[in-house]
Amino acid sequence: MAEIKRILVTGGAGFLGSHLCERLVDAGHDVICLDNFFTSQKTNVSHLLDHPNFELIRHDVTLPIFLEVDEIYNMACPAAPGHYQYNPIKTIKTSVMGAINMLGMAKRCGAKVLQASTSEIYGNPDVHPQPETYHGNVNPLGPRACYDEGKRAAETLFMDYHRMNKVNIRIVRIFNTYGPRMHPYDGRVVSNFIRQALTGQDITIFGDGSQTRSFCYRDDLVEGIVRMMDGPDDFVGPVNIGNPGEFTIRELAELVIELTGAKVNIIHKPLPADDPARRRPDIRLAQEKLGWQPKVPLREGLKKTIEWFRSIDLSHYRPPTPNFE
Ligand code: NAD
Ligand code: UDP
Repeated sequence: MAEIKRILVTGGAGFLGSHLCERLVDAGHDVICLDNFFTSQKTNVSHLLDHPNFELIRHDVTLPIFLEVDEIYNMACPAAPGHYQYNPIKTIKTSVMGAINMLGMAKRCGAKVLQASTSEIYGNPDVHPQPETYHGNVNPLGPRACYDEGKRAAETLFMDYHRMNKVNIRIVRIFNTYGPRMHPYDGRVVSNFIRQALTGQDITIFGDGSQTRSFCYRDDLVEGIVRMMDGPDDFVGPVNIGNPGEFTIRELAELVIELTGAKVNIIHKPLPADDPARRRPDIRLAQEKLGWQPKVPLREGLKKTIEWFRSIDLSHYRPPTPNFE
């Protein structure tokens, strides 16, 4: 039987964190989910509350906490542009102080710690697709910087704790991921388009819709990060985890309209500042080192996501922060 570990998931009530908690509980691990519920709600994990291997702590990662664990997945951070720009100072504090607190815990306990980094590390990339060796093109002064630079500083902290204090780390650069349990009002493109289509609202394309993104289904993503955590200690990353299928935002809008059967129009709104023009992961490193590659094509993942959006009651979700509508 596989070893049972005590695992902390920060941001564990969020979209990705809640799926990760589920996966780890199912594998028999003792899971501590830590969250301040800034961008999530307890309903994401309420089905786990009665499970003897699951524990929920309301806490903010910018504040110290003393727990004894074997592994830490550091997922806590607002991830949607509307969420992370709502309080940019808090966003950068969450990345930087959250990383320091989790690295300190890992150092004290001898735990392994994985950082949920992001493709935003690459900014508006002038290398395409983006390999891990690319250092990126980030505007340190713009509205996305609180997130991008916070995550970049967190990567620096992870590498320095690893080199200086021999902390056993992993860094995963997550590319746009979607699926059930995305917050329907988070303002991200997949959730916005599906919610708009299902409620008969116009689909809002920012700019001319020629910008591209690569969309990874949440099951593929969770598999990738668990493989990275469980992988060999001499491969700390960073490693890109994402789906290399690349779509324009206009193509995504048309696919959502087709799959929902909605009779809605596409309208255009101004492109937000520093919006990356293109994004696609080079995943050769993940293939080689982790034997990982995504399995779920966009059309299939969108169908499952649309099904979930149809099943929820939108009135149970409060728009938590202003989004771009
Ligand atoms: P999410 O907003 O659903 O989840 C983030 C969770 O962190 C939420 O539950 C939120 O309440 C919690 N949180 C925020 N600030 C906190 C704080 N100070 N203390 C404790 N908890 C806090 O977003 P997600 O998409 O699930 O993202 C999870 C992680 O993955 C984030 O670190 C994000 O940067 C990273 N990521 C996600 C994507 C993606 O496409 N989903 C892409 C790149 C990186
Ligand atoms: N976008 C859009 N309409 C929306 C929401 C987003 O056209 O209603 C665009 C946005 O400008 C960006 C892309 O979709 O080019 C992805 O946006 P998202 O906020 O999902 O994530 P990002 O990758 O920009 O962090």
